[in-house]
Amino acid sequence: MAEGQFKEGIAGARLSSAQYAENFSDLHPPLDHHEALVESDRCYFCYDAPCMNACPTSIDIPLFIRQISTGNPIGSAKTIFDQNILGGMCARVCPTETLCEEVCVRETAEGKPVQIGRLQRYATDTAMQQGKQFYERAAPTGQTIAVVGAGPAGLAAAHRLARYGHDVTIFEARPKAGGLNEYGIAAYKSVDDFARAEVDYVTAIGGISIENGKALGRDIHLSELTADYDAVFLGMGMAGVNALRADGEDADGVRDAVEFIAELRQASDLGGLPVGRRVVVIGGGMTAVDAAVQSKLLGAEEVTICYRRGQEHMNASEYEQDLAAANGVTIRHWLQPKRVLAEGGKVSGIELEYTAFGDGKLTGTGEMLVLPADQVFKAIGQTFVPAALNGSGAAIALEGGRIKVDAEGRTSLAKVWAGGDCVADAREDLTVSAVAAGRDAAESMHRSLTSNGRA
Ligand SMILES: Cc1cc2nc3c(=O)[nH]c(=O)nc-3n(C[C@H](O)[C@H](O)[C@H](O)COP(=O)(O)OP(=O)(O)OC[C@H]3O[C@@H](n4cnc5c(N)ncnc54)[C@H](O)[C@@H]3O)c2cc1C
Ligand code: SF4
Repeated sequence: MAEGQFKEGIAGARLSSAQYAENFSDLHPPLDHHEALVESDRCYFCYDAPCMNACPTSIDIPLFIRQISTGNPIGSAKTIFDQNILGGMCARVCPTETLCEEVCVRETAEGKPVQIGRLQRYATDTAMQQGKQFYERAAPTGQTIAVVGAGPAGLAAAHRLARYGHDVTIFEARPKAGGLNEYGIAAYKSVDDFARAEVDYVTAIGGISIENGKALGRDIHLSELTADYDAVFLGMGMAGVNALRADGEDADGVRDAVEFIAELRQASDLGGLPVGRRVVVIGGGMTAVDAAVQSKLLGAEEVTICYRRGQEHMNASEYEQDLAAANGVTIRHWLQPKRVLAEGGKVSGIELEYTAFGDGKLTGTGEMLVLPADQVFKAIGQTFVPAALNGSGAAIALEGGRIKVDAEGRTSLAKVWAGGDCVADAREDLTVSAVAAGRDAAESMHRSLTSNGRA
């Protein structure tokens, strides 16, 4: 164990640069040519492929695997990109263990699914590394579309619309495009600046311009976009975070986990990124696991996730929980935060109350536990911030705090569609679901624009 790991408080340079490089290397290294052939041979090419039904973008999985096994990875990549132009990132970040690989018949039969995600990565990496583009733009339609947000939903929508010959302008609040692919996904899932490479690959089709540093509600307004463009797609994700609702949460050392991960993803020198010696993460989802694992990989000595319900209720998949455990993170259940303890304004610990289900409700039992901590991360969910839509003329209907859309992604406002995390939707908040929503909304926009010339 490195000496720097024992530095008290929030500190950087806990590890050697070689250790940082090793810790943040590719979680699932790519398959080489031979491995891809062997793995693709394991597929039964099921005629009713359950894996395909489990994929939110409905990629023809048996077909792309067959193309790999017959030595045609470029054709395989096209099969993937036809349905999911961000298939490269999805191959890296999809929780395949709860999607396609969970239902793979080889998982059911022998507990070892075909490694669909890694095969998808093999095919898409091969095509992207060769700069192979599959789509040409249709003749220009003369119609213009504004997309708000350059995350997976916005990029997928923009690409599909550009293919149809429409001119797309993406307005993105942040300095870089990519959304959470660039600022949120755990560093070890997307190495070598892949998010940026993918944005370049997607926009290479032409007809898409991205205006960074332009926020809806601040620099531009929805009423202007609906007046100036033929149609608008909102793919703004969720910019807000829930409060901890624990006394003292303003203390120095209490941080939003998503903000911490964004800083980590943008850091050029991980040794310069300070992390606590004893870190407590509050939450039970993917963000909690990512913040905890990355704290540990940055050299924190003790990292504990505290979740208010049981293991079976956690949003983080079993695989992610195992990943946390394998990295030395302790997960504790049935604990809710009550009070952040501070000394001289800085976090020194957190007081938590045990919880239990009573009368179908989760309640505190009154029994307390104190965990020493010099850093506390809040990972208790994000929220859509509707303020960006305010001052935009007619209000857009919301549902459950997010934008309400119909089955085609149309909002209550004429000419405006929405998709991805900002939308009230039965789909899970996943990269692949956002891609599917952006793609499907683009199809609906195109149908609308071409049926009567206006959205
Ligand atoms: C920490 C973390 C880890 C995750 N890990 C995974 C994972 O491993 N696998 C997985 O499948 N999913 C993961 N997810 C979920 C996944 O990242 C999201 O579901 C997905 O990115 C949603 O895409 P989106 O395009 O709807 O929104 P986002 O990716 O959030 O993109 C929205 C974009 O809109 C921009 N924007 C916001 N407001 C405005 C405005 N007013 N004006 C202009 N632009 C604006 C934002 O800057 C952003 O670029 C993770 C999420 C988090 C928070
Ligand atoms: S379920 Fe598994 S074996 Fe069947 S087609 Fe899909 S990947 Fe191949």
